[in-house]
Amino acid sequence: MDADVIVIGSGMGGATLAAALAPTGRRILVIERGERLPDSAEARDPAAIFRLGHFRPKETWLDAGGRPFNPGNYAFVGGNTKFYGAVLLRYRAEDFRPLRHMGGITPGWPIGYEVLEPFYSAAEQLYRVRGDATGDPTEPPRSAAYPFPPVPDEPDIAGLRRAFAAQGLHPSCLPLGVDLERWLARGPTTWDAFPDTTGAKSDAESCALAEALRHPNVTLLTGTRVDRLLAEGRRVTGVQVTGPQGAATLRAGTVCLSAGAVMTAALLLASGNGDHPAGLANRSDQVGRNFMNHNLTAMIAVNPLRRNRSVYEKTIQFNDWYLTGGPQGEPLGNVQMLGRVTGPILAGESGLPLWLADYLAERSIHIMAMSEDLPDPQSRVMLRNGKIVLDWKKTNTGAHDLLVRRLKTAMRRAGWPFVLSKGFPKSKPSHQCGTARMGADPARSVVDADLKAHDLDNLYIADASVLPTSAAVNPSLTIAALSLRLGRHLAAQAA
Ligand SMILES: Cc1cc2nc3c(=O)[nH]c(=O)nc-3n(C[C@H](O)[C@H](O)[C@H](O)COP(=O)(O)OP(=O)(O)OC[C@H]3O[C@@H](n4cnc5c(N)ncnc54)[C@H](O)[C@@H]3O)c2cc1C
Repeated sequence: MDADVIVIGSGMGGATLAAALAPTGRRILVIERGERLPDSAEARDPAAIFRLGHFRPKETWLDAGGRPFNPGNYAFVGGNTKFYGAVLLRYRAEDFRPLRHMGGITPGWPIGYEVLEPFYSAAEQLYRVRGDATGDPTEPPRSAAYPFPPVPDEPDIAGLRRAFAAQGLHPSCLPLGVDLERWLARGPTTWDAFPDTTGAKSDAESCALAEALRHPNVTLLTGTRVDRLLAEGRRVTGVQVTGPQGAATLRAGTVCLSAGAVMTAALLLASGNGDHPAGLANRSDQVGRNFMNHNLTAMIAVNPLRRNRSVYEKTIQFNDWYLTGGPQGEPLGNVQMLGRVTGPILAGESGLPLWLADYLAERSIHIMAMSEDLPDPQSRVMLRNGKIVLDWKKTNTGAHDLLVRRLKTAMRRAGWPFVLSKGFPKSKPSHQCGTARMGADPARSVVDADLKAHDLDNLYIADASVLPTSAAVNPSLTIAALSLRLGRHLAAQAA
């Protein structure tokens, strides 16, 4: 055996699991296809990031029509968290129960919020979250306060907070995993979508993996891609990898898959054999199905007579329409600051000439509407001739359109009269989840409530793919909490 536990992927799910398992003394091998992200001039160069896609992996997936695209996901040690906005929000307690949305009814989770709550608190400690739990009417009960006070509003954002409050809305602090002073020391930019090359963001590498690697029983293998899982009957017997040393098969008693929602599904589908003809862990035919990714719209709210002096912006949210707001009281979603959009970022994202992008960016404020995408079996990840096909069928768009309209009105009332908006493209599935969902019924889900594959005795999944619903909050803290819970489960099993 090469290890007691193999963890595939060092992103939010995998690194957090490794941190949870490290103190057990078991030999943990984390296999990551990417390398560590070095610091470079491009790390704070918006043209390199937003126009040239400097950090994107050189790979293509196919859309439903067979058209190739370069996905807006990243493959470095730490996974997508190296680029994330570091918003570390809990799902609301109501998200764990069946909920009626404008686009349909979401299923409940096999566990309630109260089961995950202690792990949310532990995840907030591990990821050094800065926040303030007061002020948001949808905030779920918590057993511990945030470990650090919130990141301060800049003056123009404090003004927006007051303007929202004057409308009867309830703006509150975004819980964030960022050490502001350290981040700004490297350059005056926001952090969302910028790579973390100095450890200033609380990402999976700088927090969880660093913690795991303090233990001599944890090993990280970088630049090593898992191509296939090998299985006999109900046991995974090894993982086939390609790395700097060429091809090899690595073996461990327990295998945990944490490659991200698209890659985890693709790996399972690629690993079919005589015992598992439709792909591994796929007796239910659910692997790859129920793909979700929030409905997201970015807004640039312009006032030609006002300057926005902010550097990072990303400190407030409101959830007044999170649980209600639809024609029959259905949920609409979350509103949160986008992160400072500058001229070069806007030019890179929109193709506008730089002079116009500069003019608009300097006179605008930047915010985002996020609505729940509901599980739909036809929304799926597939493999066609070894290539990944992402057929994302958006759901619940009526609720999102209504949220966008409401937010535009709120922005106008707040003193930003011209509101431009753009939906996030399907080629950037940054909040992807749901492709190997958790459930009690083996006919309708891929893993059980302990994240063990229904069809296999030693395969676990710990990443965004297990989420049964996408809710309307950023996914990472929930992924981390689930990994910590799985870590405790596996540790108890081994004891
Ligand atoms: C620009 C951006 C902003 C975001 N902002 C936020 C935010 O503010 N808050 C939030 O909660 N979420 C945010 N997200 C989403 C968040 O990053 C993801 O939800 C989270 O990282 C998912 O965790 P994961 O473990 O499922 O996958 P990942 O973190 O992506 O980790 C998967 C890992 O597996 C590796 N891997 C994949 N295939 C293989 C293979 N075959 N062999 C070996 N290794 C493999 C990958 O390289 C990667 O390191 C953002 C994402 C992006 C892109």
